[in-house]
Amino acid sequence: MSALSYRMLNIGGLPTGLLGLEELFTELYDEGWLPTDEKLRDALVAGVRKHNFIPTPAVPEYAGALCMEYSRFFRLKGSGKAVVARDYGTWRGYPREQIPWFPAIAPELCNDCGACLETCAREVFERDENGHVWVAEPFLCLVGCCFCKSVCDPRAIRLPGQEILKNYREKM
Ligand code: SF4
Ligand code: SF4
Repeated sequence: MSALSYRMLNIGGLPTGLLGLEELFTELYDEGWLPTDEKLRDALVAGVRKHNFIPTPAVPEYAGALCMEYSRFFRLKGSGKAVVARDYGTWRGYPREQIPWFPAIAPELCNDCGACLETCAREVFERDENGHVWVAEPFLCLVGCCFCKSVCDPRAIRLPGQEILKNYREKM
């Protein structure tokens, strides 16, 4: 049996590692599931639970993040682009996905102006099918950078304090 894919998602502001996501998305896509299907949330959560632990109180947050990610997968597939697992590299010798440095958008403050999207050179932000800006690739974010926060007039972008980076000493 081949090894399952492994991918980190930003769920509720925390990097969360999930096994078998690419396989699940491919299976659902091949079965014809649309991002708008009413039962997609349940199908995604049930599929992820086959290989991962999801605490019951966290199901709504997982379901929201999984639906966003599946919509993105669906769009990429539909446009003929290859959906490949990214290699996010390392930072100070640590896998980038272990460093909790990425922006989070407060939806109640964001007006979808797109300033962050235009400022960031790393393709961290995308617009969804409804035109809302979201953090699609958190681990492409440059560790220590704050540019997008400084251009967000409604102050909708949150980033960690620089002090958390002191916890990551250079690995020899
Ligand atoms: S700059 Fe701020 S308000 Fe504008 S889209 Fe980005 S997060 Fe939303
Ligand atoms: S902090 Fe910098 S690299 Fe990260 S999303 Fe914002 S502009 Fe892009």
